[in-house]
Amino acid sequence: MADTIFSKIIAGEIPCHRVYEDDKVLAFLDINPLSRGHTLVIPKELAVIIDQLSDEFAAAVGRVLPRLSRAVLRATGATALNVLQNNGVDAHQAVMHVHFHIIPRYADGAGLGIGWPARQLGADEGKQLAATIAGYVAET
Ligand code: 5GP
Repeated sequence: MADTIFSKIIAGEIPCHRVYEDDKVLAFLDINPLSRGHTLVIPKELAVIIDQLSDEFAAAVGRVLPRLSRAVLRATGATALNVLQNNGVDAHQAVMHVHFHIIPRYADGAGLGIGWPARQLGADEGKQLAATIAGYVAET
């Protein structure tokens, strides 16, 4: 995997507004925030998208996400937020290093705008698809 801007931030070669760091995780403010307090949480593991992330580093990120979310809410006064995680160019990923966005949502609408073109899940489709996914979960 190629180095990205986030590798350089982890290495301290590029500055950031750091809000949290431990041996496996770094969190810092997004340089182009969607809303005030927009924070990025990244594992210190070279993984492009989430299926490449080890259980160890995934657990490390998961362990601090609630604490970081609480801190962002307290610091900003926002009462809602989205945790967003883009995987792949088609899913809007721009930096090819796994990262989680914590994006506060405000009453004036500032925050993440979401398109959600939902449809009804058919009973047969649901049964088959769940069984297929469950099979692969058991395999990996
Ligand atoms: P993505 O679309 O890949 O999920 O989001 C990447 C995020 O990284 C964007 O929100 C962008 O503003 C942020 N970003 C890109 N380069 C830098 C940087 O050098 N410093 C910081 N703090 N954030 C960055």
